Amino acid sequence: MVVDLHCHSNFSDGSLSPADVVERAHAHGVTLLAITDHDEVAGLAEAKSRADELGITLINGVEISVSWENNFTLHIVGLNIDCENTTLRAGLEDIRQRRISRAEKIARRLESCGVPDAWKTVTEQAGYESVTRTHFARFLVERGHAKDSEQAFKRWLGRKGKAYVNGTWVSMPDAVRWINQAGGDAVLAHPVRYNLSRTKLDTLVSEFKACGGRAIEVVSNRYTPNEKSAMIALAKRHELFASVGSDFHVPGNPYIELGRNLGLPENVAAIWQTWELN
Ligand code: AMP
Ligand code: MN
Ligand code: MN
Ligand code: MN
Repeated sequence: MVVDLHCHSNFSDGSLSPADVVERAHAHGVTLLAITDHDEVAGLAEAKSRADELGITLINGVEISVSWENNFTLHIVGLNIDCENTTLRAGLEDIRQRRISRAEKIARRLESCGVPDAWKTVTEQAGYESVTRTHFARFLVERGHAKDSEQAFKRWLGRKGKAYVNGTWVSMPDAVRWINQAGGDAVLAHPVRYNLSRTKLDTLVSEFKACGGRAIEVVSNRYTPNEKSAMIALAKRHELFASVGSDFHVPGNPYIELGRNLGLPENVAAIWQTWELN
């Protein structure tokens, strides 16, 4: 069984359509897949019909943007959710509106730095779906203002960039509650990436569990073996389940591929073992 429970389609900041993500996952041997677009579930119906055709099990997923303690951004993945749940849908709609407001501010900053047309180009690219900083990064690369996405974040969009605008999202208890009300499991996404001290990470995970969180993403792309062991230990310490996901966005990076290098030791309690899969 090859499991990948975190990746993106072009309904947020991935480059492939949901059907193409499913196809690529299948080609890479994935048997249990979740597509987890940022604050958006509209791509899942298309993904489901392709998954049924190919015989790969697709779990409904989403990656929710959360503001924790003084506007620090975290991501909570929801797995096995009912996408029709009205609380969840309304919550995600609200975040997508916040994304649009932030995007307007980013575009204005870029404009005042002498980079015109960002707003028009980015909203056309994102269509009616979730507009992210990745869309701005692509625009900046296309216009020659950065050589690649990494540099676009460093120079413009990241915390120290010239057009940085901090997002204000939803609280962690709200995000977890929406996921639980939609019958799903809340997973703390890629904890290594927050660069928190062990103490701070324990505080975060305690709060996450107290408000109904169920699992920790113990494997994500580019985790070192030490980081992976530390995350497994973190999950065990807090008696939470483990989840795994590539966080795949675009083809072309051999280190970030659907289903690649996501295996778990057998003695780790995996969240998908709690699901009734057919
Ligand atoms: P947003 O949720 O709109 O703030 O955008 C965050 C997304 O930007 C993440 O999900 C990543 O896909 C992408 N991202 C964040 N930091 C970087 C980086 N340094 N280089 C490339 N992509 C990044
Ligand atoms: Mn992303
Ligand atoms: Mn994320
Ligand atoms: Mn992601």
